[in-house]
Amino acid sequence: TEALLEVTDLTKHYPVRAGVLRRQVGTVHAVDGVSFSVGVGETLGLVGESGCGKSTVARSVLRLVEPTSGHIRLGGEDITHLSKTALRPHRRSMQIVFQDPFASLNPRMTAGDIVGEPLAVHGLASGKALEARTAKLFEQVGLRPDQMRSFPHQFSGGQRQRICIARALALGPRLIVCDEPVSALDVSIQAQVINLLIDLQRQHGFSYLFIAHDLAVVAHISHRVAVMYLGRIVEIADKDELFRNPRHPYTQALLASVPIANPLAKKLTPLVDGDVPSPVNPPSGCAFHTRCRFAMERCKIERPGLMEAGDGHHVACLLNEGTGRPNSIP
Ligand code: SF4
Ligand code: MG
Repeated sequence: TEALLEVTDLTKHYPVRAGVLRRQVGTVHAVDGVSFSVGVGETLGLVGESGCGKSTVARSVLRLVEPTSGHIRLGGEDITHLSKTALRPHRRSMQIVFQDPFASLNPRMTAGDIVGEPLAVHGLASGKALEARTAKLFEQVGLRPDQMRSFPHQFSGGQRQRICIARALALGPRLIVCDEPVSALDVSIQAQVINLLIDLQRQHGFSYLFIAHDLAVVAHISHRVAVMYLGRIVEIADKDELFRNPRHPYTQALLASVPIANPLAKKLTPLVDGDVPSPVNPPSGCAFHTRCRFAMERCKIERPGLMEAGDGHHVACLLNEGTGRPNSIP
């Protein structure tokens, strides 16, 4: 498939300062050399524990945070350093749906005004035409047009997320970044919202970068899945391939910790122990070496890059090196 979004060598580092002199005592490696692509009409799931840098990737893609280095290309155009004005047409093509639908909705605006606002701001519709287009957006996400006059607090959590999705649809985006869009919802509601997202993609053909810590949710919606650990992608593959044949020790541990969500997976040895290390001055070499049950001496020194292990399956592990091209964008 043709790539819509291409991210290459993305890093986002923050200085950590301490003391009266605010001396720099460390660097947060929030995102540490991440490369991936999302095809037209494709859903790429980005999964990892909280604090692994998923949301920073999302915000960098949308240019809500400035990356320290690396490149973001949308439809072949490098948008990494575009000015606010030059970025404006691209803002229309990229939308985001956040985790907490209540926090991202203005409580003093009606649902109709919230959903129609992007159309009004971009001067695409006003008056009766704006109302008609907003009503259509409500119908597309399974809400009734008469609910346009209600305020956010009058909706359930699932309905509020539908309002956010309708607003994201308003400008006809090519890419929707979903940052944990169902994590705050009841499990019974999660599937409804996920199925709505899938239906909308079938109708409109846009792409999703879908971020979650829940593997079952990612498995349901994604075509391909990328696994992040401490600011890096450690594995990326087609969904079925990843769940059937996880190659990175961290992915294997993740899958082993949720066997019910994943009946396809072989029985795998669970993660040995230990907490995720701090992203402030992360471990040298392979960042997973402090928890990996296969760690070798050289894992503390050599940093494995993503290598193709066959048919689009990429792994960053020294046990898998030498089997592929180190410079392809997965
Ligand atoms: Fe484990 Fe070494 Fe592979 Fe890292 S490179 S996942 S420490 S075996
Ligand atoms: Mg997050």
